[in-house]
Amino acid sequence: MSYNSKVLLIYTGGTIGMNRNPLTGALEPFDFEHLLQKVPELHQFDTQIETYQFAPPIDSSDMSPQRWTDLSHVIADHYDQYDGFVVLHGTDTMAFTASALSYMLENLTKPVIFTGSQLPIGQLRTDGKENLITSIEMAAAKDEEGHAMVPEVGIYFNSHLLRGNRTTKQSAEEFNAFESFNYPHLAETGVNITYHRHRMLKPDYSKPMIPHFHLDNNVIIFSLFPGIREDLIRHIIRTPNLRAIVMRTFGSGNAPQSPWLLDALKEGTSSGKVIVNISQCMQGAVEMRRYDCGYHLQEVGVVSGYDSTVESAVTKLMFLQSQYDDPKMVRDMMNRSIRGEISIPNS
Ligand code: ASP
Repeated sequence: MSYNSKVLLIYTGGTIGMNRNPLTGALEPFDFEHLLQKVPELHQFDTQIETYQFAPPIDSSDMSPQRWTDLSHVIADHYDQYDGFVVLHGTDTMAFTASALSYMLENLTKPVIFTGSQLPIGQLRTDGKENLITSIEMAAAKDEEGHAMVPEVGIYFNSHLLRGNRTTKQSAEEFNAFESFNYPHLAETGVNITYHRHRMLKPDYSKPMIPHFHLDNNVIIFSLFPGIREDLIRHIIRTPNLRAIVMRTFGSGNAPQSPWLLDALKEGTSSGKVIVNISQCMQGAVEMRRYDCGYHLQEVGVVSGYDSTVESAVTKLMFLQSQYDDPKMVRDMMNRSIRGEISIPNS
């Protein structure tokens, strides 16, 4: 059989490949062969599918920056031999991994499509088959010029292709597990697949893809809430080695006006910590100038996270910290969209 394209299917674990343990009744990761046997449809593709398995496959709750580095290596090592990549991954941390990989694979010209499922692929009502089959189709798809239809890191789930670093897991129950609240879908599937190419990133085809393998995870996420304690915040701010904080604020980026909070944040930013303001709302952006209580945050050196997801902000910080020692550079890059992860007004 002659094939039109070649896709590498990478299995990291997750529900899609899990089996029920007969003793405990709990779902456990299973090996790849088992998963492939459940999808004989894969043989009908005019795409050559080769596979790579992470050993052992994991529940994505155990995902880590080391695994992201491993994944970046696998894609970089096989980049020239394949037209696209599909990564099977648990849904729980898929948005973090897709965000991290979007930063680690600079000037990506080929699709890296993450997918998984809410029900194991062996189960009768599984959502895994459609997710897997369509992801492979998207990873193989090319335009008239031979360029990939999706030259970026995406998450395909339940008929939508979403930008990876714009996506959040929104449901632990519904098949519609993911949404990109602040960016429209990249593609939709029904009877046909509709690609919205004007929404996709435009890589420079004259330049190579540049893989990155380092991350610096000296970063923490915390949420503000009425009643938050000064001693606990000061403790975090004074943590040695901590380089950045993703601070989840109210509404359009607002925080209590307590003088101690502003003072503690100022202590953090003056000592070189990058503090990024991300809203607790799923939809909308941080606008620190809109209310007085947001304005003060800007005055003490807090950086806007614009309309970023938390997953994207924390992995972008890990990536930038591995690239720059100087917090000024990290701050500066947080104010720029480097992989389509934020919408900056008037830019
Ligand atoms: N706990 C599983 C995981 O993230 C859930 C899933 O795959 O949907 O690996």
